[in-house]
Amino acid sequence: MSASSPSPRRGRVAVIGGGPAGMATALSVHQAGHDVAIFERYREARPAGNVLNLWPPPLKALGLMGVDTTDLGAPCLSQFRNDKGRVRATIKSDPEIEKQYGRGGGFIGLLRPELYERMLAALPPGVLRTNQSVDRIEQDERAVTLHLADGSTYEADVLVGADGIDSVVRRTLWGDGPKREHRLHAIAGYTFADDIGGETGYCVIGHGREVQGSWTSIRYKGRDGYQWWVLEACDPDAPAPADLLARAKQLGRTFPHPLPQLIERTEAQHVQRWVLRDRGFLPQWSQGRITLAGDAAHATSPYAAYGAGMAIEDGYFIGRRLRGVDLTDFAAVRQALQAYEEPRKPHTAFQVTMAYRNGQMFHHTPRLLRPVRDFIFDRTPFLQKVVGDTNPAEINKQLALITD
Ligand SMILES: Cc1cc2nc3c(=O)[nH]c(=O)nc-3n(C[C@H](O)[C@H](O)[C@H](O)COP(=O)(O)OP(=O)(O)OC[C@H]3O[C@@H](n4cnc5c(N)ncnc54)[C@H](O)[C@@H]3O)c2cc1C
Repeated sequence: MSASSPSPRRGRVAVIGGGPAGMATALSVHQAGHDVAIFERYREARPAGNVLNLWPPPLKALGLMGVDTTDLGAPCLSQFRNDKGRVRATIKSDPEIEKQYGRGGGFIGLLRPELYERMLAALPPGVLRTNQSVDRIEQDERAVTLHLADGSTYEADVLVGADGIDSVVRRTLWGDGPKREHRLHAIAGYTFADDIGGETGYCVIGHGREVQGSWTSIRYKGRDGYQWWVLEACDPDAPAPADLLARAKQLGRTFPHPLPQLIERTEAQHVQRWVLRDRGFLPQWSQGRITLAGDAAHATSPYAAYGAGMAIEDGYFIGRRLRGVDLTDFAAVRQALQAYEEPRKPHTAFQVTMAYRNGQMFHHTPRLLRPVRDFIFDRTPFLQKVVGDTNPAEINKQLALITD
């Protein structure tokens, strides 16, 4: 049986978590011809946040999984700049990719709810089961059993833990490793104010000596606007600033137009804060009939702007690997899950590491070395090489792998 043939027998796949990883897994597994159910603890699949950017590989995967990506987000040319507006690095995009995906090679700015709505619209009815919190899981060679908080159980041939950074599946399989504190927090918001003026179609990642002040054009349900975020070092255990918008205004005030104006025009209810953490590298994801996807496998700092993107890619590849596999066959399932995770590990580990290191470099360089660091970023091609050339090339390698 070839890997692209439909499955000989419909298997049963359970997915814990209705985030980007869970929804993508369900879409791809459904296309592979298996029955799939998502167990989501909340009463709806709801985004835990507002702002989002996506790279072209997840966009391509979404399209192949039947998600309508027409006019989704605003294509942006991404640049790293200093806090005087000087360009330090431009994210290089391949002209061919640009032709297909638009300005900036199709790095888009959007708001999370639209991504969720479009993914949910592509899911077959009945796949998403809400108010279904999974407390415990167990497996043997024959099946996996989910134990739900309401006392019920569910049996599946394969389980995908897409349950985020605090994954119960990861903990069950591999223990509860500590979270890695980045000692950073981000405050982010968005506005549709139409009198901002100046540049559009950019994602500008601005850095001063201590603060990141960034903004992106967005498109949300046909409306053009902007999202922004400010990011600084913090004590992760300290209480959040009492007034997030006031703190954001203070941090953004020294950056060039339009950042201070965007923050000024943002309503308080459109502002959120996150303390940044990940969990470091997990050398093995799958065990028996169970595997991990998205943040459960490789929680990533937003410095990569790729956590949701990698989660979508994971889901896409899981479905493709399970196509044509008899899910009652324990050895075949193990082999398919291992084949899924092997190429994902170096790619996701690279992104997690790079995102962590960038955060440390921009916000935790010793005070005396900061002028030297900024001189290098302003006057040498170092940043262009690392974030402008190498990283987009690494991400775009995924495009070639995402093909039906
Ligand atoms: C400030 C910020 C900015 C970011 N910006 C970007 C960006 O620009 N681009 C990008 O690609 N990524 C970005 N990310 C990262 C991205 O948000 C995450 O990587 C992504 O949401 C991970 O998706 P996931 O499906 O793996 O996990 P989650 O989105 O965390 O979803 C997990 C789901 O599982 C459910 N769940 C958990 N436990 C259980 C249980 N026991 N039973 C049932 N359900 C359960 C949860 O309710 C949740 O719905 C950003 C993150 C932050 C914090």
